[in-house]
Amino acid sequence: MDLELTETQALVQKSARDFATRVIAPAAHETDEHERFPKEILKGLADLGLMAVNVPEELGGAGAGVVAYALAMQEVSRACASTAVTMAVTNMVGEVIARFGTDEQRNKHCPKLASGEYVAGSFALSEPEAGSDPGGMRTTARRDGDAWVIDGAKQWITSGAYAGVIVVWARTGGPGTKGISCFLVEGGTPGLRVGKPEDKMGLRGSNTVPLELERCRVPASALLGEENGGFKIAMMALDGGRIGISSQAIGVARAALDESVQYAKDRKAFGKPIADFQAIQWKLANMKTELDAAHLLSMRAASLKERGLPFSREASMAKLFASETAVRVCNEAVQIHGGYGYIREFAAERHLRDARVTTIYEGTSEVQRIVIARSVIA
Ligand SMILES: Cc1cc2nc3c(=O)[nH]c(=O)nc-3n(C[C@H](O)[C@H](O)[C@H](O)COP(=O)(O)OP(=O)(O)OC[C@H]3O[C@@H](n4cnc5c(N)ncnc54)[C@H](O)[C@@H]3O)c2cc1C
Repeated sequence: MDLELTETQALVQKSARDFATRVIAPAAHETDEHERFPKEILKGLADLGLMAVNVPEELGGAGAGVVAYALAMQEVSRACASTAVTMAVTNMVGEVIARFGTDEQRNKHCPKLASGEYVAGSFALSEPEAGSDPGGMRTTARRDGDAWVIDGAKQWITSGAYAGVIVVWARTGGPGTKGISCFLVEGGTPGLRVGKPEDKMGLRGSNTVPLELERCRVPASALLGEENGGFKIAMMALDGGRIGISSQAIGVARAALDESVQYAKDRKAFGKPIADFQAIQWKLANMKTELDAAHLLSMRAASLKERGLPFSREASMAKLFASETAVRVCNEAVQIHGGYGYIREFAAERHLRDARVTTIYEGTSEVQRIVIARSVIA
């Protein structure tokens, strides 16, 4: 793996960093405090090509690859994790449609996701009683003439209230993972109801909603991929999504580390900066080392995916390690900030709240360990 960035990767990283520093970071506290969905900021990201980084240029994407996407996600997450998760899911939806869609589906949706004409895309796999085990889903789709009729409920759907297109999984065959298909449901389709946004611990500027589908009728052409072939699409999308979430975790934790270093230099106790105490120095050393290790794991997974090589285990390892590292690092950042770490005015407490979900969504840490262990034992 080449650790040097290509010109394109460095350019994407720089434009994401500039926009994140100039526009996203100054709004991050308000976004969190007032649960403000960052609509205008998302349009700015789209204008920079960051809502479809790894979507081919002929479909309106940046065509910049997986490593560039991971780097951009780190930069945006460093500024605002709420904005970053919205960006991550939209990128994932664009990639899924570009990869598995028909020409008609690709040409219809990808340019709108990339340009910001769709505020966001959504990925609706989880259900109230099926998260880690999507094979247990209850949502159904039945064929009715030249249409599919979808009935069921989805839970915790990121950007569900704003999505131009939602990738929805539903049961079309027998029980288990083999009878699941995947559909493209446009926002506003009759029969699709968006529930009340969740009141979350973190990512408070992102939109997380339950969806209800009641006799929701979509054309036959809304089927994505093969009938009963939807589970494979979900797993492949999640493998890629895990690279995005590892990047999110790294970005949030980097912000926590940077702020901790600054605080440790500024804050005095016993007549000297707390950065002079070895107890604080060791925390900072561990935070930096673990974060760099997480970054390398994430870059390895991204690089494998970019080169078309198997990357499922490596994406799980990156997501597992980066998310658990982020929680540890952000927790230490609160500790270094002392009492101020517990106060809203300082970003440290937001970082901890934002980081916490990264060990849960796109597959919990327990699920990542199952994926990794299976491939180690095989
Ligand atoms: C803010 C937020 C945004 C989200 N966005 C989306 C989205 O956009 N789209 C979407 O589809 N979903 C989304 N999710 C849902 C998320 O992916 C699920 O919450 C997650 O997959 C876990 O599922 P669950 O909550 O049902 O937990 P469960 O599956 O009920 O698990 C509960 C606990 O049991 C453990 N567990 C379960 N099975 C096993 C096992 N076999 N071995 C060991 N331990 C096990 C889990 O690891 C966990 O600790 C989001 C969630 C949140 C909180």
